[in-house]
Amino acid sequence: MTIAASARALVGCGMPELKPLTQWYCDCCGNIIKNIKDAWVEWIVDLSTKPMTYGDFRIVHHLSALPEDTPFPGCQRGRVAGLGDLPMESFIGSYGQAHLLSWIDPGEIVDPSGKEIGKGLVRNLREWTTLFRRIHMPYYEEARLYMARASANGRYNGYNQALPFKESELLAVIESEGADED
Ligand SMILES: [Zn+2]
Repeated sequence: MTIAASARALVGCGMPELKPLTQWYCDCCGNIIKNIKDAWVEWIVDLSTKPMTYGDFRIVHHLSALPEDTPFPGCQRGRVAGLGDLPMESFIGSYGQAHLLSWIDPGEIVDPSGKEIGKGLVRNLREWTTLFRRIHMPYYEEARLYMARASANGRYNGYNQALPFKESELLAVIESEGADED
């Protein structure tokens, strides 16, 4: 069980704990990041490959969101080789979508022939889609704590690949599986 899941288990009421698209579980401490301005997105740039690649994405508390006496780097990675980071504000909304998508496909202006698609920047597409869903799909951040168990319980039998990520479905998983958490 993740830190966040165990914290969630204490709630165990089946009601969503997070405000969708504005709150996240910190990948470092597991506590809720309560405001967009307190959220920080980090990744590691591997400079040894050509082109360089982005990966190991995390959403964490920015140091400024933690109590004043918290030592550097708090929940952030701090001074590590290849660190890339930006405030969550850079990734929300439609421009945030444009930003994240540009890591997969630079787009027709910069790359008219499409020859760069899939070659650069993101070294693990599953990590990228998880980051995208966490930031842009309502209730995914919380529902993902329960989706493996929901699957094991047969919830997704007969679903197509997109349906588990439908907003109403994500909320339903929180309400049903979250209530069963013990
Ligand atoms: Zn944290």
